[in-house]
Amino acid sequence: MKPNQFPRAHLLLTGLLTLGLCSFVIAKFTDDADDRFTTESVLLDLATLPAADVSGSETLSTPSPTNESILPRSQVLVERHIQVKPGDNLANILKRQGIPAQELQRLLASKPFGSRLNGIFPGHNFVFSLTDDNTLIKLAYSPGPLELLEFKRVGTSFVGYEVTKEPERTTAYKHATIDHSLFVSSQRAGLDDAFTMRLAQIFQWDIDFVLEIRSGDEFYILFEELYLDDEFIGYGKILAAEFVNQGDSYRAVLYTDAQGEDDYYDPNGDSMRKAFLRAPVEFSRISSNFNLRRVHPLWKRTMPHRGIDYSAPSGTPILASGDGKVVRASRTKANGNYVVLQHGEQFVTKYLHLSKFGRGVRKGKKVKQGQIIGYVGATGWATGSHLHYEFLVNGVHQNPRTVKLPEALPIPKRELERFNKLSRPLFTLLSNYKQQIQLALVR
Ligand SMILES: [Zn+2]
Repeated sequence: MKPNQFPRAHLLLTGLLTLGLCSFVIAKFTDDADDRFTTESVLLDLATLPAADVSGSETLSTPSPTNESILPRSQVLVERHIQVKPGDNLANILKRQGIPAQELQRLLASKPFGSRLNGIFPGHNFVFSLTDDNTLIKLAYSPGPLELLEFKRVGTSFVGYEVTKEPERTTAYKHATIDHSLFVSSQRAGLDDAFTMRLAQIFQWDIDFVLEIRSGDEFYILFEELYLDDEFIGYGKILAAEFVNQGDSYRAVLYTDAQGEDDYYDPNGDSMRKAFLRAPVEFSRISSNFNLRRVHPLWKRTMPHRGIDYSAPSGTPILASGDGKVVRASRTKANGNYVVLQHGEQFVTKYLHLSKFGRGVRKGKKVKQGQIIGYVGATGWATGSHLHYEFLVNGVHQNPRTVKLPEALPIPKRELERFNKLSRPLFTLLSNYKQQIQLALVR
């Protein structure tokens, strides 16, 4: 899916998403008995510990060695459930379990998932399976409700397996009329802020959600709800939505194209987005505008300023403003760490003074609009932490704030029939729902 961003609020979005995710994980695990995720010991006979011992409809992606090959059948295992706390790391966690440090190295070195253990986060869950002499036989790691990695001892090393759990998806509808706040009205309709932000992202190119929302605006959404073992675990995709803003109605549908890419389109098959974000960073203020006759703050002489400086705290994520390819991710004295993206034949965007690069951002790599390509910093010739952003059309610098942004590509003609076939039923469901709501309101 193309991660469209909400330019004025993507930081908030990131925060909300993170918060939403954390509180969700915590909520899920604190619903149960309080001590369950501190340290609980369960005695298990090995025979009752099959390869995939997590409830739910899961599949093992790779064959797993049987426990019988590791230990005699009669040996008893202790299972300990640990939830990662703020400030924790795996070394500490192992130490507290009395597991020798060399086991950590073996876990991290295990192929192909060992490196994932470097990314543990508060709220993530571990289950340690240990023999009664405290030998680690298996480590199960859940970074999220739908993902489980298992590391099983084979001799003196570990082998990692991925167990994926497929949630059940059901469709649901929501409607809300806005009185003064989009978020408050959405909450009243039972939607969380992260979900509302996703809705706003779809329409962000047509509606200014900061300035243009009026009371009486309303929306209708058809979306997925995800369940695991009959328990609601979160929202899935927004399948179709209509937003009525100041009397104008905008409709969007999710379409997965023949290449498997998800994006939102209007009923005619035109993309809901533009090809570029207006600003690639959440900025507190513009510290220097596009100005071809600027006096440089460091060198005190006239030097054209061919971009815009967005002042922002160091570490603020910088987003690829459009789909493209990394043509440069390197460092010079003047630019500091910088990234240059090529978007098709005509367009180039440049991002300067980064504190660091986004994960996997290297020359030749493809990036998606909204993907994090780096973080704001003050490397190179910079007086304070900011992003210097340039937008070039056919090799000529344009003002990123005023340049006319091209439309994102519509559904290709050869795919229109498929699009219509898949999208019309969704629009119909949404219209039927809207009619019901309106009838109910009239009564
Ligand atoms: Zn600048």
